[in-house]
Amino acid sequence: MRQQDLLDDYRNDLLGVFGDPTLVLTEGKGCFVTDTDGRTYLDLLGGIAVNALGHGHAAWTEAISHQAGRLGHVSNFFTTPEQLRLARKLLEITGAPDGAKAFFTNSGTEANEAALKLVRSHGNSADPRKIRLLALKHGFHGRSTGALAVTSKEAYRAPFEPLPGGVEFIDPTVDALEHAMDEDVAGLILEPIQGEAGVHPLPEGFLEAARRLTKDNGALLVVDEVQTGMGRTGQWLASQGTLSGELVPDVVTLAKSLGGGFPIGAMLAMTPDATDVLGPGKHGTTFGGNPLAMAAGLATIQAIEDEDLLENARTMGRRLRDGLRAIDGVVDVRGNGLLIGFDLENSNSVEGPLGPKAVSAARERGFIINATGPSTLRLAPPLIIEGTHVDAFLEALPAILEAAHDA
Ligand code: PLP
Repeated sequence: MRQQDLLDDYRNDLLGVFGDPTLVLTEGKGCFVTDTDGRTYLDLLGGIAVNALGHGHAAWTEAISHQAGRLGHVSNFFTTPEQLRLARKLLEITGAPDGAKAFFTNSGTEANEAALKLVRSHGNSADPRKIRLLALKHGFHGRSTGALAVTSKEAYRAPFEPLPGGVEFIDPTVDALEHAMDEDVAGLILEPIQGEAGVHPLPEGFLEAARRLTKDNGALLVVDEVQTGMGRTGQWLASQGTLSGELVPDVVTLAKSLGGGFPIGAMLAMTPDATDVLGPGKHGTTFGGNPLAMAAGLATIQAIEDEDLLENARTMGRRLRDGLRAIDGVVDVRGNGLLIGFDLENSNSVEGPLGPKAVSAARERGFIINATGPSTLRLAPPLIIEGTHVDAFLEALPAILEAAHDA
């Protein structure tokens, strides 16, 4: 069947929340995916920061297949060795202090929902005046009503008001935080690098100030590492190093790269303030902690370690950013490791947003990239990406931008 006919089927049979997809993909190998017409694309988006090991990674595939043949699902009345191993491994690699605990979910949104319930419950039992939640302008935390309530983009929120209340969005500046923080704040949620907003790192010193001010005011600090975590920035957590030791966050949320393409999320309760809040009956999920997801998570972490992919993310990320900075029309290259954002200089003669036009022009030339805004592009390729892939994209980009300008 022709790709266009399949895309017509999509329009008939699937709810249009994602807009029209542009390709029907059938296969993937390494950093490449192939569509139904047999065209191959270098995947520089990695399923939006998910496919850490690329596509069809042998050890990951084997781990899931093996687990499927052994034990595919049990309820949370029971546990499995895989669940225990992944929890321990996650607590180790993220530098969690003794006593920290994990809770598994199926997505980033659900990890944040668990975190928000934890924050509310902690605040309610600490002091009934603790009713305010702080979140950052331009922050993104998911699409369920709770996660949406702390997501700042008006267009996402407006049709669904009233959302859970008590949330205030502040500028990501230490001044704004100092001004907003008080003893009636239950918690602060933030991303170390705002991914959906176009890969904008928080200003220098903000994370430390957030930790200090939340602690001083009895509020919990939730660091959403759904997009930035699990090696994407060349460290297991983007906040690691800044927020560790004495400055560890109360809660860290993870998803995306954690399963290497298998749906999974996790909430890590890091500090004593957070670990004892959600006791029996206070939260739950049918699929969270599912053995297949656990096997996928373990295989992903193992491969990242075996193949030295944190180092690869750092090296390839530098190569990409340095190359991008040398290209005419590319401005303000941002990010860390393999989470990269940059803006496109728009000459006044171009009609309409340049970003989406660049995405189309890139696709026509065999590259998958993403626009997070009218003139902002994002790259989040597999952590296994090689120098030849990076160079192929950098070489093609001037022509892609020219085509975007002409479109
Ligand atoms: N938090 C952040 C920082 C994200 O980037 C995302 C998704 O893009 C989410 C939460 C929501 O995760 P999910 O789509 O897995 O529910």
